[in-house]
Amino acid sequence: MADDAENLWTADPRRLLRPGPEFNLASVDRAGTPGWSGDKDDAKELMLRRGELLSELQERLFAHGRTGGDRSVLLVIQGLDTAGKGGIVRHVLGMVDPQGVALRSFGVPTEEEREHHYLWRIRNALPRPGQIGVFDRSHYEDVLVVRVQGLVEREVWEPRFEEINRFEEEVVESGTTIVKVALMVSAEEQGMRLMERLDRPDKHWKYNPSDVDTRQRWYDYQAAYADVLARTSTDVAPWYVVPADKKWYSRLVVTELLTQALIDLDLTWPQADFDVETERARLAATMQPQVLAAAEQAGEQARAKHVDGEESYREALAEAGSLDDLPGDDGDD
Ligand code: ADP
Repeated sequence: MADDAENLWTADPRRLLRPGPEFNLASVDRAGTPGWSGDKDDAKELMLRRGELLSELQERLFAHGRTGGDRSVLLVIQGLDTAGKGGIVRHVLGMVDPQGVALRSFGVPTEEEREHHYLWRIRNALPRPGQIGVFDRSHYEDVLVVRVQGLVEREVWEPRFEEINRFEEEVVESGTTIVKVALMVSAEEQGMRLMERLDRPDKHWKYNPSDVDTRQRWYDYQAAYADVLARTSTDVAPWYVVPADKKWYSRLVVTELLTQALIDLDLTWPQADFDVETERARLAATMQPQVLAAAEQAGEQARAKHVDGEESYREALAEAGSLDDLPGDDGDD
């Protein structure tokens, strides 16, 4: 296993996985690991290290939200059944403090939701300042399943692409960084994963007979996804098309995308809005001398550790930032 797993990225996944004008969904190798020259163990190793950085960055975001900041991050996860949406939530978001994560899954609209515009339930679920919002499925279902199943006429879903772009622009303007990932599993792998759900009684709860109905419309869904990617990958809210046959790869990529989104916010710890020395004296006056002495000793150690911590954080940031220097395209999208 490599000591320095960051170096195993040969290209920046942010640029590599963004669909450009020539993008062709059919040519995406869903078992591929674009930009990653390491193996599964290397990826797991890097994810663990990234997890520490991600966790610190998330705490900074949370603190920022608690002190009047307006920034937040929204991770939109789309993908067909078995693409690994739940695994991303468990393994990537599972690395940060759940208090700072606002997870929402979007299923078939409820009766109440159906009485409103399709973006109503989405607006209500947007992350508050300081939060990482996660959408497991999203408003994109309204141009995917709704279209493929013919739940509304073309005249109704067609204008939604533009409407979604305007909506996301507004969300970004209000301080939210949007990271959209389309997990792309191959038909073969999806078949295997569904079969495994049938083979294992402990997975039956995950199986829904309608999954096979959806699978029977595979090409319609691919066409609908292709349109989504072509029409709603904007500069302010780009899509990342993530090959998902290797779960460890898609999890690593999403960890990287989220980490980079948080790095780009460039948040510092909020300044105290009180005088620290005055408070220290007031608190000390309430403490027994021997407890105070012990606290002072612990305080010295904590301050020293913080300086170390800040240094390793800066180092990790510098390493992470080095992805910027990588080429954006290896010509293999
Ligand atoms: P999952 O399959 O993601 O584990 P569910 O079992 O709750 O979660 O399934 C969600 C289902 O809801 C999916 O089949 C999805 O296509 C459907 N769905 C989501 N949004 C809409 C929508 N706006 N209109 C119709 N169906 C939707």
